Order: sequence, then structure tokens, then C-alpha cells
Amino acid sequence: MSEKTREIEVKGLHKKFGLLKVLKGADLDVKTGEVVALIGPSGSGKSTLLRCLNLLEIPEKGKIIWRGKQVDYKSMKPSQMAAHRTNMGMVFQHFHLFPHMTALENVIEGPVQVLGMPVDEAKREAREFLDSVGLGDKFDAWPAQLSGGQKQRVAIARALAMNPKVLLLDEVTSALDVEMISGINDLLVDIAENGMTMVVVTHDLGFARRVADAMFFLDDGIIIESGTPEQLLENPQSARLQEFVSAVLRA
Ligand code: ADP
Ligand code: MG
Repeated sequence: MSEKTREIEVKGLHKKFGLLKVLKGADLDVKTGEVVALIGPSGSGKSTLLRCLNLLEIPEKGKIIWRGKQVDYKSMKPSQMAAHRTNMGMVFQHFHLFPHMTALENVIEGPVQVLGMPVDEAKREAREFLDSVGLGDKFDAWPAQLSGGQKQRVAIARALAMNPKVLLLDEVTSALDVEMISGINDLLVDIAENGMTMVVVTHDLGFARRVADAMFFLDDGIIIESGTPEQLLENPQSARLQEFVSAVLRA
């Protein structure tokens, strides 16, 4: 009976864009303190599934259960959606920093504007977060003055500064030069080891294996395999996952 608590459970999620059915009954299970890796071919719906979790996309059908309570995404008010979103920090492949703000200003924006934190307190915390991601000397740098890896560190600090319950990471190293990738991966492993619950979309199967407690394989809008990373990567059951794993490893 000592089942772990869940942060998020997704059951039978459907999402289409126009006539294009992207999610066709997707499931997901994110337990507290665990890292879930979401893998699958390009176009299979990974980003859409991640974006549905924090209601950046609104599904048509299916359940999203947040900490045991079903999210009533059909009839929520905008303010309730905004409140739901503050539970989850999101980091994107292309950083999405505010270009006209310094690193520090990027990090304090959410705490000040969304959480109503006093500016001085937000700045003090932002310096700590930037320091913790290795940017203790870049508080006043503009995004344009930073490398891809440094920009991604600002984006990670910005997400952490909102004190999220879950971090959603969408291919956060895919746009980086090869020499930047391992540093970001190490940082994410540190954050996971500090107890953060994370959902990580990645093509980096080595990293997924290193960081993840559970793995889900999404193909054409549905999860066709889930289990431990070892189970999926070493002993894939379906032909689709076998093909996917060998294609990624060949790349
Ligand atoms: P993945 O992250 O697995 O590569 P996505 O979730 O980004 O897949 O996209 C799945 C499919 O949905 C793709 O065909 C993509 O072009 C389409 N899609 C994603 N977002 C939108 C959107 N806002 N409008 C129309 N089509 C979209
Ligand atoms: Mg994607």
C-alpha cells in the first residue's frame, strides 16, 4: 500500500489541430520526485502532450489528474488555468528568453509579475538561482551576449524561480552545440537529484537512461510502451520501439 504519490496522471488524452489528430488517447503517469522520460519519433505528439499538461494546449477529451484532482480544462476560468500553470515550469528547445531583458530580469519577471513577489526579494532569489546554474557572473548579461548553453541555463533558472512542483523540459539540448550538452545534462541530473519531479522529452537516450526513473514511448499519438528505461531501451517489445531505438542509436 506504500504506493508513491502522483503529481500527474493522464488518461486517454485526445488533441487535434484542425483535421490532424495528434494525440489519440495518450496516457502518462508522473510520480512525485521521479523523472519521466518521454521519447518517440518526431511528430508523434510529445510536445503537444507536454503542452497539454500545463494547458498551453487544451485537449478535446481525456483526463488530466493533478495531485489526485481531475483538471476541469473544459470549464476552467483563465485565472484558474493560470494558477494551474504556476505548478509547472517549462523549458523549451529554443529558450524563449525575453530578448530585451537581462538574465536577472528574465528570472525575476515571473516571480514579480505572476506571484507578486517584491522586486528586492525576487532579485535576491534570482541571483541564487543564476548562481546555482553556473551563471554567477552573468546577472546583467543580455540574452544576445550569451551562448546557447548559457541561455538555456537562464531558462532553467527562470523556471526554478517560480518554485514549480514539476519541471517540463522539451528537448532542451537539441538546439545546443555538442560541447554544451553534457553541462546542461549534468545540471538537470543535479536538479533531479535534489528531488524535483520532471517530465523530460528527449532524443538523447543515454541521458534519458541516466536521469529517468520511468520512460514512456509515444508513437502516433498513443503510448505504446512504458516501463523503466532499461526495459524500454534494452528489451523493447514492439517493432516500432525496436526500430526507434536502433534508429536513434545509429544517428
Ligand atoms: P513532437 O514534439 O513529437 O515532434 P508535436 O507535438 O510537436 O510532435 O507535433 C505533432 C504534430 O502536430 C505535428 O504534425 C505538428 O506539425 C502538429 N502540430 C503541433 N502543434 C500544432 C499547432 N499549433 N497547429 C497545427 N499543427 C500542430
Ligand atoms: Mg517536439
